Amino acid sequence: MDRPWVFDAHCDTISRCWRRCEDLASNTGAVDLDRTEQAFGHYAQIFALWTSHGYTGGDSLEQAYETLLRCFRRQLEASRDRICLCRTGDEIRSAWRQGKAAAMLSVEGAELLGCEPRRLEQAARDGVRVITLTWNHANALSGSHCDRPEQGLTALGREFVRRMEELHLFPDVSHLSEAGFWDVMETARRPVLATHSNAKFVWNHTRNLTDEQITAIIKNQGVVGLNFYREFVGLGQDLDSVRAHLDHILELGGEACVALGGDWDGCDTIADLPDIAAADRLYEFLLCHHYRETVVRGLFYNNLMRVVSLP
Ligand SMILES: [Zn+2]
Repeated sequence: MDRPWVFDAHCDTISRCWRRCEDLASNTGAVDLDRTEQAFGHYAQIFALWTSHGYTGGDSLEQAYETLLRCFRRQLEASRDRICLCRTGDEIRSAWRQGKAAAMLSVEGAELLGCEPRRLEQAARDGVRVITLTWNHANALSGSHCDRPEQGLTALGREFVRRMEELHLFPDVSHLSEAGFWDVMETARRPVLATHSNAKFVWNHTRNLTDEQITAIIKNQGVVGLNFYREFVGLGQDLDSVRAHLDHILELGGEACVALGGDWDGCDTIADLPDIAAADRLYEFLLCHHYRETVVRGLFYNNLMRVVSLP
């Protein structure tokens, strides 16, 4: 079997590297270049900059954003012959032609940008392409799935999403309140991502998406990234359980809208997928279970590629 091509929509590797003073090239976590180069034919990753109160060592969240961004840049610079920052599908394909991995940048929790629409232009210049509007805490834009879940987008939240879209940044609705989700879908004119969320029908968790939400993302031609965190996968917490989430999204018509959003280095993933290199097990598992190659390739890279290739 050929080595899979992988484009994963969410990991917390940069934050982990920063906390532990480890490197993207090789580390004790779940994602490093030594392993991805070995396991995959091509590799692209959306790296999240994430932190929260209590993790910043007294710095403000905005200062922490700058610190994490410097860490991300240092890591790319240290491995510049192996990985490069990409903003578009074309840039990813160009990195791949040069035999490099492709790094895209996201921010998890708009509070890292002060929830300020006027800071988005600089974030776009920094290379950010995706912003997860909230993490677990409600912020000035919206409630989250677990903090003020009845709160949808505020007026500032709508302005933030509109400004994001003007700059061709993708709103990420993972972690968002359901009310906020529907407000984003009403406001957005371009595809919306749920970078790391599963199907609530399969496993009832506030971080997972209802059928109505998944259907709305399919209609919007966005992407839902399958999350491998044990608590969100549920059932037997194994490859069969991941498959149940995939099957459900496919049944809803999501063949062109389902992706990987492993959440590695952010949580305890299922034992079958302890690190990103294990994604090849899922690849093999699906092909052995007679999933069409177009479906598997869509899941592994093509669907996310379609969205980030939009002008
Ligand atoms: Zn997350």
